[in-house]
Amino acid sequence: MAITRRKFLIGGGVVAVAAGAGILTPMLTREGRFVPGKPRHGFVAGTEGPLPQQADVVVIGAGILGIMTAIELVGRGLDVVIVEKGNIAGEQSSRFYGQVITYKMPNETFLLHHLGKQRWREMNAKVGADTSYRTQGRVEVPFDEEDLVNVREWIDTRSKNVGSDIPFKTRIIEGAELNQRLNGARSKWTIAGFEEDSGSLDAEIATFVMADYAKKLGIKIYTNCAARGLETQAGVISDVVTEKGPIKTSRVVVAGGVWSRLFMQNLGVDVPTLPA
Ligand SMILES: Cc1cc2nc3c(=O)[nH]c(=O)nc-3n(C[C@H](O)[C@H](O)[C@H](O)COP(=O)(O)OP(=O)(O)OC[C@H]3O[C@@H](n4cnc5c(N)ncnc54)[C@H](O)[C@@H]3O)c2cc1C
Repeated sequence: MAITRRKFLIGGGVVAVAAGAGILTPMLTREGRFVPGKPRHGFVAGTEGPLPQQADVVVIGAGILGIMTAIELVGRGLDVVIVEKGNIAGEQSSRFYGQVITYKMPNETFLLHHLGKQRWREMNAKVGADTSYRTQGRVEVPFDEEDLVNVREWIDTRSKNVGSDIPFKTRIIEGAELNQRLNGARSKWTIAGFEEDSGSLDAEIATFVMADYAKKLGIKIYTNCAARGLETQAGVISDVVTEKGPIKTSRVVVAGGVWSRLFMQNLGVDVPTLPA
């Protein structure tokens, strides 16, 4: 299919963050020049001492999902223990791009992420620390006209999915507004999708700040403590067996990232994730 001038002017699936914020410290480039970079949060150590004998809930994995889940459960009055096979945020959760977005998200996951964006907007105030999260807004230039039609349809459908408590803030922008959002950058782009309430965070900061907060709430996070399996009695979970001993519980959250599939496979449960 030939590329028309119109398509060229629409753009190439390019993404731009509309406005930036952040505290800067120097970083060395390949050429040896120092450029501004972001400060990193320190490593967060696990809880010292012996494993508790029991807990209301055991969370397996101290990545961002395990930590956030534990914080949520403690807020509901439950006693929660996290077991982590390596270090806190030692895998994906200290390396991801940190985009907090819902743009073009399918129906099945959209509402959860829409709510998630709201949670992140409130997070710095909630934890009383700078998680690095900022609401920035995000401009995405469509690949071609077909993409633009799909985005318009997506906006139309999703805007009807959300209630008024957390308003839907993605729309098409053009002309002066697009130029202003691109902050004076020279481009031939004529039209774009704009997700006004999207944000971003730095995974090397946010996950550790949340782990600190979890520990302050009294959540115990045992590192170098792999969960090896679950024991059941009369068809109900009775223990999480870890390499440092068992913990009695009737509720387990498996937040083991890419390893969740292997862990659950041993229990005969198929979890559809990418293979580790
Ligand atoms: C390159 C890249 C970019 C990404 N960018 C984004 C983005 O911009 N925005 C976004 O929302 N998402 C992004 N993601 C996805 C995001 O990184 C993940 O969804 C998120 O980090 C997953 O967190 P998690 O806690 O589930 O997993 P993890 O961070 O992997 O944590 C799982 C933890 O469980 C532990 N564990 C596993 N098995 C056991 C066991 N048996 N016993 C004890 N502990 C165990 C592991 O050691 C690990 O620490 C990106 C992913 C990648 C790879």
